[in-house]
Amino acid sequence: MLKFNIAPFVGTEIEYLQVASKNQICGDGPFTKKCNEWFEGNFGSPKALLTTSCTHALEMAAILIDIKPGDEVIMPSYTFVSTANAFVIRGAKIVFVDIRPDTMNIDENLIEAAITDRTRAIVPVHYAGVACEMDTIMSIASKYNLYVIEDAAQGVMSSYKGKALGTIGDIGCFSFHETKNYSMGEGGAILIQNSKFVERAEIIREKGTDRSRFIRGQVDKYTWVDIGSSYLPSDLNAAYLYAQLKEADMINQNRLKSWNLYFEELKVIAQEGIITLPSVIDNAEHNAHMFYVKCKNIEERTGLIEFLRDNEIQSAFHYIPLHSASAGEKFGEFVGEDVYTTTESERLLRLPLYYGLKKEEILHVTRVIKEYFNLKI
Ligand SMILES: *Cc1c(COP(=O)(O)O)cnc(C)c1O
Repeated sequence: MLKFNIAPFVGTEIEYLQVASKNQICGDGPFTKKCNEWFEGNFGSPKALLTTSCTHALEMAAILIDIKPGDEVIMPSYTFVSTANAFVIRGAKIVFVDIRPDTMNIDENLIEAAITDRTRAIVPVHYAGVACEMDTIMSIASKYNLYVIEDAAQGVMSSYKGKALGTIGDIGCFSFHETKNYSMGEGGAILIQNSKFVERAEIIREKGTDRSRFIRGQVDKYTWVDIGSSYLPSDLNAAYLYAQLKEADMINQNRLKSWNLYFEELKVIAQEGIITLPSVIDNAEHNAHMFYVKCKNIEERTGLIEFLRDNEIQSAFHYIPLHSASAGEKFGEFVGEDVYTTTESERLLRLPLYYGLKKEEILHVTRVIKEYFNLKI
């Protein structure tokens, strides 16, 4: 069976783990610092902090912007539960707006109509590592004095107009879960552009204490100063991730090669209007986080999943729109018309894509897909 995903592994992870095991293995050891500096240096972020997950980075963001019960947060419904839950646990009401069918990202032109006097933040999700239209989103945010929290879980190494995703809004959040392009098993990072959040971010991440200031010698003992939790990962996990960050270009190039091969091979049936292929907006560079095709409808997609499985290929659909889930009905509201969120999510099917996927394997998948549609028409 050709797997849908295999966690990235470059080969030096164990060596780095061995080094880490001889140092401080709790949080904020040498490898955590190396990872933070790597993000700051490569992505031009003024402050990056490794976290235990992207979910936790989003939770930190919700605390940092001081979300209170009744506040409203605007986001797409086509996303992972954590995008919403991070704000819901602070008492926010989630306001869902429709996506654009070409990128599956929030439709930037629908945001303004969803703003009320309770709106506090916009949370763009860069689906498949493809940028949202950030210039529009940032200008709406500044017009209405709203924060922008980027869910860049899938967007590590992607960019928009030359800026790394996750470094454009006030705060950006990355994921290093095993399904993402770079992994430490479970993990994430928070990137802080708005400097007023930096000091408090360190405190929240360190259980609400000023331990970071203590370590830097800025205070002579550390105490409880704020709310917080344990959002810093073990240095062992950081070491594992750092091995992959050192090879980030190689991983990125390898994934892009696979993505481009899928695209080239499937172009023919896309041109005939049988399937739809992913698209990337102008002035954006993606990281080949995902390759998907869109079928005509859910029935055709179910058939394709089965046909691929019969041919030893795993594929996967993706999010059930949050507004249609039971918690989504309770904590959120879809504003405007659901023109694309539900229908497009039912059409979408993700194909195997991971670091090290072989050319022959991709050609096998594309051959099987073409066969499925030829058999049907
Ligand atoms: C993976 C993912 C998350 C959650 O990341 P974790 O690190 O597993 O918490 C959040 N948002 C999106 C869009 C994701 O793809």
